[in-house]
Amino acid sequence: MKQTLEQIKKDFNLELGNVKTLSDAENLRVKFLGKKGAITAVMPMLRDVPAEQKREMGMLLNEVKNHVQNSLDEKIKQLNEQEIENQINSAEKIDITMPVNLGVGSLHPRTIIQKEVEDVFISMGFVVDTGNEVETEFNNFDAVNVPSSHPARDVQDTFWLTNGEVLKTHTSAAQNRILKKYGTNARVIFPGRCFRNEAVDAGHENTFFQIEGVIVNENVSVANLIYFMKEMLSKVFKKEVEVRLRPGFFPFTEPSFEMDVKCPFCGGKGCPTCGGSGWIELCPCGMIHPNVLKMAGIDSNKYSGCAFGLGFDRLVMIKSGLNDIRVLNSGNLKILKPFKLNI
Ligand SMILES: [Zn+2]
Repeated sequence: MKQTLEQIKKDFNLELGNVKTLSDAENLRVKFLGKKGAITAVMPMLRDVPAEQKREMGMLLNEVKNHVQNSLDEKIKQLNEQEIENQINSAEKIDITMPVNLGVGSLHPRTIIQKEVEDVFISMGFVVDTGNEVETEFNNFDAVNVPSSHPARDVQDTFWLTNGEVLKTHTSAAQNRILKKYGTNARVIFPGRCFRNEAVDAGHENTFFQIEGVIVNENVSVANLIYFMKEMLSKVFKKEVEVRLRPGFFPFTEPSFEMDVKCPFCGGKGCPTCGGSGWIELCPCGMIHPNVLKMAGIDSNKYSGCAFGLGFDRLVMIKSGLNDIRVLNSGNLKILKPFKLNI
């Protein structure tokens, strides 16, 4: 046994000299101290050693084992230090005087089209305002006539914060503030980011953009609504467009409509963009519900108003030719950077 142990020590010392990396050191540890390692294999031999030599052999076994362990620990320490030193020596040397070519950036398609839509509204006498992304339950729901039993208030649909506020689920959350701020002579649009607790796929996002607008005055009617929407859509699509109204339902408007635009790509014949129907659903709208006006302190007997939304992400996708809404939030420069508007 003594010879075996001495041989093991000799072999180990020889092999230790060849260890160059941490992984070499680990392999060596396994070879000598592992479950099937050379030292482990010697241990049962101790049983057969004559009693008077047992103590000596036991001490020798321990000595070899400790020698292997300590030598490996020391080697690993050295290798780690060397590694750090190598990293320091080879660390990227940055020459701050070198000119850097960052390339020319571009605006996000959403930003470009938002600006375009805002400019159209501004040209028609609208003011551009905004809303909060975190809203009170009152502003997001009660102030726009969404009853407490409405399923939209459910946690499955809405991101509720622990303080009872919500991530606004629609731009209408700003209506109460906007109506109070601009009163009976309002002609305002308020674009913004909205949030729904949605499963995300190519057609649905949990974070999306809407543009909403309100007009309040005496005698505002559906005719005003159609006029402004048609004007806006014609300018956005850069051609005279046809629109149609279908009945819709929203708690904050009465009556409510869905406004469709005749597909500017196929002229109504049917194409992939309009899903073959010839029409693109883009603008939920309606006459502002008297309760909503009242909650903003506006006399609904004297004044009336219309409100409209714009399916803004859909518009961006149509105009930029993107077919996956997720790209818009992705920050994927490969797709977003070279994009150009279809219209
Ligand atoms: Zn079409």
